[in-house]
Amino acid sequence: MAKINDNFLKLPGSYLFSAVAEKSAAFSAAHPDKELIKMSIGDVTLPLAPSVTKAMRAAVDEMGTAAGFHGYGPEQGYDFLREKIAEKDYIARGANISPDEIFVSDGAKSDCGNIGDIFSTDNTVAVCDPVYPVYVDTNAMAGRAGDFIGGKWSKLIYMPCVEENGFLPELPKERADIIYLCFPNNPIGVAMTKEQLKPWVDYARENNSVILYDSAYEAFITDENVPHSIYELDGAKEVAIEFRSFSKTAGFTGTRCAYTVVPHELKLGGTELNPLWNRRQCTKFNGVPYIVQRGAEAVYSDEGRRETREAIKYYLENAKIIREALTAAGFTVYGGVNAPYIWAKTPNGETSWDFFDRLLNDANVVTTPGSGFGPSGEGYVRFTSFNTRENTIKAMEKIKNMNL
Ligand SMILES: *Cc1c(COP(=O)(O)O)cnc(C)c1O
Repeated sequence: MAKINDNFLKLPGSYLFSAVAEKSAAFSAAHPDKELIKMSIGDVTLPLAPSVTKAMRAAVDEMGTAAGFHGYGPEQGYDFLREKIAEKDYIARGANISPDEIFVSDGAKSDCGNIGDIFSTDNTVAVCDPVYPVYVDTNAMAGRAGDFIGGKWSKLIYMPCVEENGFLPELPKERADIIYLCFPNNPIGVAMTKEQLKPWVDYARENNSVILYDSAYEAFITDENVPHSIYELDGAKEVAIEFRSFSKTAGFTGTRCAYTVVPHELKLGGTELNPLWNRRQCTKFNGVPYIVQRGAEAVYSDEGRRETREAIKYYLENAKIIREALTAAGFTVYGGVNAPYIWAKTPNGETSWDFFDRLLNDANVVTTPGSGFGPSGEGYVRFTSFNTRENTIKAMEKIKNMNL
């Protein structure tokens, strides 16, 4: 008899955002007259930059000509894009990354999940708590997480990010072979300075561990001392893989383009990881559309930079409005300075889901319950700043009028 991968059966039932969507839909069905303001899922709302759509239109026209037609492209991405990324995202910041260390893909979510293919299932894995669920669930599917018991995976190392430690993880006491870090952070919205990140690079170097560094929110950094890439730190190329995406940077959530950096210096037992990831991608992935890569390239033009930065500024202004309004209403809030997320403590020690329900029913605002991101998220809800200015202001007005 054929057998399934029974690790899938160990996964807890309802995915966080499906539960949020179900509750929102039930509310709307019961109250068709009430308009819900969604500040839950991390999806952008502003349209693509004009320079991006212009480049994509030109690429569409090219594709309709015999001379400009493109079939299968290189699995790793076109040189024109890999070279731009190396130059503008790395060399410009003093990180010496070469184009052949960059792998263009259809998303940081898929790359964060697929990267497990090149690592043994024997590795111990450390994750922040609360955390972006993709790191946890993909390791569970691969059999690296053990069993889900009492809200926790038996084999994962949880690194609590709580008020007492300023929401920054502490180095694991147990040996961690693979460490996921995401800064600026989702879901909490906090960032790490260079000084705060350095001990992690040192730890990985001393323990032969690998850091999987997700910097999907790099474009939201406003503080000077927050690194945009882990490779801004000395020695990081020997221990880290970095994930980046055009999703939040340039509004590509529906367009799909991202990249992963695997430096040649990164070796385990003398074996370079770069050719392993290359082999994996060439076997299981057939590249990002030419049209989309031309759009991504346009993000690096002067015009593209200016336009995409305007959009980020708009979201960060929303974040400021949320932070200030919630603080004025008596909430304790974190994040929202170098990230589009605001982490708000529930009033009166309410659970995340109880307060989620109250916000839904009394203010018609949809948030994400912190407990859905891990046990240490209990007692918090996450607000995103990706809605329109108008809706952000309206939502804050409604919360202000709530009976807290
Ligand atoms: C949004 C997000 C990404 C980007 O995923 P894509 O698949 O590139 O859209 C990656 N990591 C985190 C933590 C995110 O929140």
